[in-house]
Amino acid sequence: SQQARIDVISGVFGRPPRDLQFPKNSAGKQKVISEIFGSNVFGIKEMGERLPKPVFKTFCSQLKGGQTLDKITADAIAHAAKVWALDHNATHFTHWFQPQNDTTAEKHDSFLSLKTSSVGGLREVHALETFSGSELLQSEPDASSFPSGGMRTTFEARGYTVWDTKSPMFLQEGPHGTMILYIPSVFISYNGEALDEKSVLLRSSSVISKVALEILHMIEPADGEDHGLTFCLDVPRTKEIFTTLGTEQEYFLIDRGLYALRPDLKTCGRTLIGGLPARHQQLEDHYFGKIPTRVLAAMSEVELELAKLGVPIKTRHNEVAPCQFEAAPIFEEAMLAVDHNLLTMDIMHRVAHKYKLKCLFHEKPFKGVNGSGKHCNWSISTDLGDNLLSPSASPETNYRFLIFLVAVLKGVLDHGDLLRAGVASASNDHRLGAQEAPPGIISVFLGSELNEVLNAIEEGRPVNKTLAGTETTHMRIEGTTLDLKIATLPKLNRDMTDRNRTSPFAFTGNKFEFRAVGSKQSPSFPVTILNSAVASALLEIKEDLYKQMGSKTVATDEDMLTVIRKYISLTKNVRFEGDNYSEEWVQEAAKRGLPNIVKSPDAFKRILSPHNSEMLTRLGVFTQTELESRYHILAEKYTKEIIIEAQTLWGLLIQHVLPAAFSYRRELSESATNLKQLSLNAVPEVKWLEQLAPIATAIQESAKKLDTLLAEQQPIQEAEVAAEHACSKIAPAIEEARNLTDQLERIVADKYWPLPKYHEMFSTL
Ligand code: ADP
Ligand code: MG
Repeated sequence: SQQARIDVISGVFGRPPRDLQFPKNSAGKQKVISEIFGSNVFGIKEMGERLPKPVFKTFCSQLKGGQTLDKITADAIAHAAKVWALDHNATHFTHWFQPQNDTTAEKHDSFLSLKTSSVGGLREVHALETFSGSELLQSEPDASSFPSGGMRTTFEARGYTVWDTKSPMFLQEGPHGTMILYIPSVFISYNGEALDEKSVLLRSSSVISKVALEILHMIEPADGEDHGLTFCLDVPRTKEIFTTLGTEQEYFLIDRGLYALRPDLKTCGRTLIGGLPARHQQLEDHYFGKIPTRVLAAMSEVELELAKLGVPIKTRHNEVAPCQFEAAPIFEEAMLAVDHNLLTMDIMHRVAHKYKLKCLFHEKPFKGVNGSGKHCNWSISTDLGDNLLSPSASPETNYRFLIFLVAVLKGVLDHGDLLRAGVASASNDHRLGAQEAPPGIISVFLGSELNEVLNAIEEGRPVNKTLAGTETTHMRIEGTTLDLKIATLPKLNRDMTDRNRTSPFAFTGNKFEFRAVGSKQSPSFPVTILNSAVASALLEIKEDLYKQMGSKTVATDEDMLTVIRKYISLTKNVRFEGDNYSEEWVQEAAKRGLPNIVKSPDAFKRILSPHNSEMLTRLGVFTQTELESRYHILAEKYTKEIIIEAQTLWGLLIQHVLPAAFSYRRELSESATNLKQLSLNAVPEVKWLEQLAPIATAIQESAKKLDTLLAEQQPIQEAEVAAEHACSKIAPAIEEARNLTDQLERIVADKYWPLPKYHEMFSTL
């Protein structure tokens, strides 16, 4: 009721702030973050200090060779990890894994074991802490309760979690000042099929690393090899390549008390009803605004907790919508960055509690204001720290940059629909295609400067300095005629890329930013797809370059330029520099043959399209069975989420909204009757009743419609048909009921309105 809302809001302002002391060093001075960073991680350094030297050496070489650990090494690591964990008050350990449900999973086991010995001929049982190599390496959760898309039937529900040795173990807070040892793991079936998000990411990472390295070795001379570029002689050769990822995480925070009064937020993560208040984001005063004190305190505690886990949060700020914020880390190797994003969401969620806040990761918690995304900044890096998508390196390496650039273009052109599938969900549908977020057409934005360089290469003409922005920057263009003999391309300036906020996939200086990713989802699947699509393009490019090179061991500039030019022409259609929200683009994209996939059920199907499934299985990232399973999991999750929303909304309408309308109506009609008895002619209450009645009736009907549609949905077994029905029938009915309810909210007296309103949730931080 209204009273509950008032109580929460007045409670907030009388509450003392949470007091948090930053850790202090031995001198009593507050520690700086770098001193705290990674203190709860059993990383390489910690292992090196605690493990016997030969064991540590074996571990490192097994890690590099991608081999599994032998028993002796595993036992020794487990022992060292146990001693370290017990030093930090740990009581339990858990394999920590990533099932396909956007969250992480864990099952705690204590270090406790019992040993029997004989004392004076009598058996004595005593307790001690143990942790064996096999407990470290593997665990066997009951896999039947996790989504598997029908890959395993319940009677053979065995699944295994296996320590991903590339990810270090870490400690998280347990109850009463104790700690829990986390072992990052993959989750696979008895037959080795991926049941999780992580296995496929690992596979895609090794595929792209391998082909990228092969290309690099084709275009860069080996140590000591004379390529006429004497300065190359002392440069050590790249031995390893990996993709890098920085996830900008957007989220909403609202007061927990108000949240508790909203069954829709609690059950579905978004408000199913609620009208926009007069003031929301139209003054454009929230983005980068002053961070509310309670929120800032919570953010700072989140950063502290994440620092202990070695998660490098760099940026925090207000986002566009009221109550919306963002956190961004320093980028890391993609595999680790995904783990760290999941930890970030987990810690945000938990710390928010301590501040009586609720953190909302849903892509569209509030209708009418901006939704949340998770921009995935992605690039490819060498072990020498060279960013392969950085154009700002010396001009001599621009060819290398251009080769990797066109590979990304080719990957996105060939598998844009798959990338779209990678970000599809019931919740992200509310955001994609709306006028605030990248639409369902995947295109690439390069910026006018780079665009001009590619056009010039394609057309074999000089780079237009004005278009390429060279007049305003300090770029050197030494050779402006791009004939095949000229080795120098313009030196591109990283800071010159424009900011086209409407593009789903934008080049931002020295990385690509995949902006269509949803705030709630794990970045793992989209990055897996991106890695795979680009790897596939690199394989094609490698073949072409190989042919071009003939008998040479290292490609010449001419070889590279020929191949680059070919791929620039091939991928022209995927480049778009204009406004991605415009109607013209929808038409233009259709002409270019780029798919526009508006709804998730259509996107999911693309996972099984021959051109996509062929690529993913050829590269060994997925098996056909795994792909089919994933399709089913995604489609079923989509359907279930919409059913849950419809059921929740039905409850709201029948149990909260309509009763409010009826109470108000009773008051109005009683008052109207009284006034009529006074023989007053003009009774405004009557007019109001007349306005109320049709809306209430329509709401009643829409509740009934939801009921009918849910009954129709129930017997549909086939995942594709079910998702289609949920999408085309139930989702619009939810929207329809909502619109009516929002009209009602405007005309019902506030004291009868059962749920916290948008303006209350927006203004109570
Ligand atoms: P922008 O303002 O263009 O979004 P920022 O420098 O603020 O760029 O970076 C946004 C995110 O991109 C950060 O998380 C950052 O760490 C990440 N990022 C920067 N460079 C790379 C890279 N080479 N690979 C992956 N992510 C990167
Ligand atoms: Mg950005």
